[in-house]
Amino acid sequence: MSNASANIYTLGIDIGSTTSKCVLLKDGKRIVAHELIKAGTGTYGPQRILDQLFEKTAVKREEVAYTVVTGYGRVSFQGADCDMSELSCHAKGIYSFDNSVRTIIDIGGQDAKVIQLNDKGQMTNFAMNDKCAAGTGRFLDVMANILILDISELEREYFLSQHPVRISSTCTVFAESEVISQLANGANRADVVAGICNSVASRVASFAKRVGVRETVFMSGGVAQNGGVRRALELELDVPIHYNEFSQMMGAYGAAVYAYEKAMK
Ligand code: ADP
Repeated sequence: MSNASANIYTLGIDIGSTTSKCVLLKDGKRIVAHELIKAGTGTYGPQRILDQLFEKTAVKREEVAYTVVTGYGRVSFQGADCDMSELSCHAKGIYSFDNSVRTIIDIGGQDAKVIQLNDKGQMTNFAMNDKCAAGTGRFLDVMANILILDISELEREYFLSQHPVRISSTCTVFAESEVISQLANGANRADVVAGICNSVASRVASFAKRVGVRETVFMSGGVAQNGGVRRALELELDVPIHYNEFSQMMGAYGAAVYAYEKAMK
C-alpha cells in the first residue's frame, strides 16, 4: 500500500426522511465505524449519530479529511464539505461493494428509486417515485401501525401467509381503509401483511420494468430488511434480489467513498 493513501479518514452522512446514518471510512475502503438512528431530517438525528460515532472510535472529528452529506435533509445540513444526490451515493456505495450489480432497487422512508448501472458503475437510467407514499417505506409504516406490529415483524407475517389478500387501492389513505375493513371482515393478519408487501413490490416492479432490470439486482434502503417485500419483488421480476445487513447504510457508505475520492484530488 502506498503511503500517500494511508490513514485518510472520510465521512459519509445520509440524512433520510425517517433515519440518519453515517459511515466513517479509512483509505476509501475499510469501515471504521457506522451509526444509524431512527430520527431523520429536522430532528436531533444527524447531530446524535455523529456524537455517537465519534464516542465509539479513537478517530477525532478533526482527523476527517472530507465529509459528504446525502439524503433528503442534505441541503439544510451544516458541517459537510459538500452534498451529493442519493442516486449518486447509492450507486457509488453499492458498485464499490459489488461491481457485478447492474440494477439497484432502493426503497426508503418516503421514496423508491430504481437505478441502472453499466459495467463501469455509471448510472445509465433511473426512475423515482417521490410523489406518492404507496410503494415506499411510509406505506409499510402506516400499515404496521394499523396492525399493531413493529416494522421488523412484517417479514415473519409475510412468510406465515397462505392466501394473501389483494390490496386494490393505489392510494395509501384508501389502502388504509381497505386494510381496516379486511381485518374487520375477519381476514387473517398474515394474509393482510402479505397483501401489503405484494402491493409495495408490484408498484416498484412496474417502474423497475420501465427502467429495465438487469442482473445482478441489489436492494438498498431500509425496506430491504423486509424479506417479504424482497420475496414479492423476486416473484414480480423473476430475478434474485441481493441485499445485505448493511443495505440501509449504502447511501452513507457511497457518500464516504465519494468523500475519499474528493480528498485524494
Ligand atoms: P430514509 O432514508 O428516507 O429515512 P431508509 O432507507 O432509512 O429511509 O428506510 C426507512 C424505512 O425502512 C422505514 O420507513 C421502514 O419502513 C423501513 N424499515 C426500517 N427498519 C426496518 C426493519 N427492521 N425491517 C423492515 N423495514 C424496516
